[in-house]
Amino acid sequence: MPVVAQPIPARRSLQARVVWGARCVTIGGDAPVRIQSMTNTDTVDAIATAIQVKELALAGSELVRITVNTPEAAEAVPFIREQLDRMGIDVPLVGDFHYNGHRLLTDHPAMARCLSKYRINPGNVGKGDKKDRQFAQMIEAALRHDKVVRIGVNWGSLDQELLAGLMDENARRARPWDASSVMYRALIDSALQSAAYAVELGMDPAQVIISCKVSGVQDLITVYRELNRVTRHPLHLGLTEAGMATKGTVASSAALSVLLQEGIGDTIRVSLTPQPGEARTQEVVVASEILQALGLRTFNPSVTACPGCGRTTSTTFQELAKQIDDFLREQMPVWRARYPGVEKLKVAVMGCIVNGPGESKHADIGISLPGTGEAPAAPVFVDGEKALTLRGDGIAREFQLLVENYIERRYGATPSA
Ligand code: SF4
Repeated sequence: MPVVAQPIPARRSLQARVVWGARCVTIGGDAPVRIQSMTNTDTVDAIATAIQVKELALAGSELVRITVNTPEAAEAVPFIREQLDRMGIDVPLVGDFHYNGHRLLTDHPAMARCLSKYRINPGNVGKGDKKDRQFAQMIEAALRHDKVVRIGVNWGSLDQELLAGLMDENARRARPWDASSVMYRALIDSALQSAAYAVELGMDPAQVIISCKVSGVQDLITVYRELNRVTRHPLHLGLTEAGMATKGTVASSAALSVLLQEGIGDTIRVSLTPQPGEARTQEVVVASEILQALGLRTFNPSVTACPGCGRTTSTTFQELAKQIDDFLREQMPVWRARYPGVEKLKVAVMGCIVNGPGESKHADIGISLPGTGEAPAAPVFVDGEKALTLRGDGIAREFQLLVENYIERRYGATPSA
């Protein structure tokens, strides 16, 4: 019996169009799953924010969200946009609004025009009779300036009135639901009710994106499966407060992968807490690795490297694998335009003869370094054939040169093969 891979189901969402100038990022439907990120600079510091947006965009972020929390921040937004346009960075900007978004969007029309999408948190729009009025003001701004909105619910700032109402209703049940089920219901209802109100006010349903972020992997999977069942609004996925480094990366990867494999999710963000000194772009790197690992998109050449074991006590292959990986990643912003298709390149850097030649043959270009006790020679394989053997101290530099030459030959303007 043949073993057949199960295809990822087609996403059932409508398609939104997030526009800045000539740039249009489609979200949902048959569009690729998009990567979003968020700055952590003070938006009032327009230069620092523009620089970080640029870094995130060059790392692969297709939408970048910035905090808009004060009149000063709102005034900085057009300047940030101008700086980006001058640098040739046309990534759409998303404004993140809480508490005073209705006022800022009304009082600062230049800011409202410069943003391509508004994130509205229904839990932080206002209380009592102000809530609908202030929410409507934000939707009116989106309609006036022809912008996309995201109804971004977060369980850290869930609409308390709605939650209290659902808890009362639950208490009256003969067999009350457990607390998690009430919470899930509150998250989903908050998003859907606000989305329905936005549509009632005149928004095209495709232009209303929904997210319901929680910090638990299983909670996120449960909530989004239900959202995907009941709505066709495009869905933004992300584990909120995912945490630092390994924990945040693993938790986000686990949650997002399960959902993406089921055809759920149109944009993703990996909310990592940066380690001191770590680049903000790490969240974009992780997001793109998730999509690439699932085979949903291809962003960068892949480097296959073995984990190492007792057969190779030298760290040469670890250093070489890292060096090649860093080199390819650093070059990609330039190579993407110069060498179309280079993102599909496969490079192997292996530690010894056991799997080295085999894995190197599967790659476009691969090197099998000598393990402990092996002759100090590193065979290089190109397109599945042994091409040459490197020796001596300059192996890393020579192999990097071979990779560069291979890319030029294969993906350059006049490819020879
Ligand atoms: S290729 Fe060699 S060094 Fe690398 S893990 Fe396998 S046996 Fe160990």
